[in-house]
Amino acid sequence: MDWSVLREAGCDVRERVPLRDYTTFRLGGACPAIVNCREPAALAAAVRFLSASGRKYQLIGGGSNLLVADAGLDSVIVRYASETRRVTRSGSIIDVDGSTGLDDLAAFTAEQGLDGLVFASGIPGTVGGAVAGNAGAFGNQIGDRLVSATLMDAAGRLSEVKPGTLEFSYRHSRLSGSGEVLVSARLQLEPGNADSLRVERERILQLRRERHPDWRTQPTAGSFFRNIEPTSAAERRQAAGWFLERAGAKAMRVGGARVYEKHANIIVADAGATARDVLELSRLMADAVRRMFSIELAREVRLLGEFRARDESS
Ligand SMILES: Cc1cc2nc3c(=O)[nH]c(=O)nc-3n(C[C@H](O)[C@H](O)[C@H](O)COP(=O)(O)OP(=O)(O)OC[C@H]3O[C@@H](n4cnc5c(N)ncnc54)[C@H](O)[C@@H]3O)c2cc1C
Repeated sequence: MDWSVLREAGCDVRERVPLRDYTTFRLGGACPAIVNCREPAALAAAVRFLSASGRKYQLIGGGSNLLVADAGLDSVIVRYASETRRVTRSGSIIDVDGSTGLDDLAAFTAEQGLDGLVFASGIPGTVGGAVAGNAGAFGNQIGDRLVSATLMDAAGRLSEVKPGTLEFSYRHSRLSGSGEVLVSARLQLEPGNADSLRVERERILQLRRERHPDWRTQPTAGSFFRNIEPTSAAERRQAAGWFLERAGAKAMRVGGARVYEKHANIIVADAGATARDVLELSRLMADAVRRMFSIELAREVRLLGEFRARDESS
């Protein structure tokens, strides 16, 4: 395939690259090509080119919520992620490209004395991935801050939508399955005190350092399973980690994949681990919770590529 058009449009195209280099689990085989787009114009060029040539593609952001199959995948990967934050402020309104890192955005809002996003401090991945999965922490979620979003459909057409159309719920939005890309987002924040926000951000980062593995040095995708939905209006959502801990998950390991010693809902991949080890371990974890509590855990981490049918049904 001749990628020169995309390279001229500012995309960085690499062929036959292992996807482990693009996910925080650091697992997964190769794809035919990865098209790295840092800003909307490059993204539009990539989506339009691939759609016109009839080439299948999958979108990723920071790769922090993904488990990629060891065999890799057949489709091209479009990666919308940028190391530079692409954000502007107008009063308490923030406009940010979906390629910007979520933690970079959280840091920016704290520096600017804008309250409402500091909860996202330390969550890896991009703003696009966060809106698509309605990322959240400490009872807050990014969807609650959205005023409008610019989306791109599979043919590269842009539209601006209001949050009501995005069907936000716990770790979900319509973007999780619609094939649309979150190009940019407009968020409404509130005036706050920059000093207190900086202190709050530092407190959250410290909490994360104490409770979670550092994905830069310990490959992981964070919580593997979703928390458990309430069964009645009176009940609150319950942490999957609570059930996993009681079911003995912390002692579990398959090959190079093991449950993190400080958090029973987090799998870390040690040297030599495969995506298959991770999936097999997650199956054992879910089996243990099912046996002890008759509760069916649902995966939060998304699978990419071909896994065997037995694994996928776990
Ligand atoms: C150590 C650690 C801690 C974590 N803690 C939290 C936490 O506290 N709360 C939380 O919610 N999550 C947490 N996560 C999970 C993860 O960081 C979030 O789900 C994150 O928002 C995923 O963003 P991403 O860019 O990495 O998406 P990816 O993993 O690249 O992709 C995930 C999905 O989003 C889609 N997507 C990506 N970009 C876009 C876009 N621009 N438009 C539309 N769809 C898109 C992809 O197609 C894919 O389906 C954690 C992960 C790790 C490793």
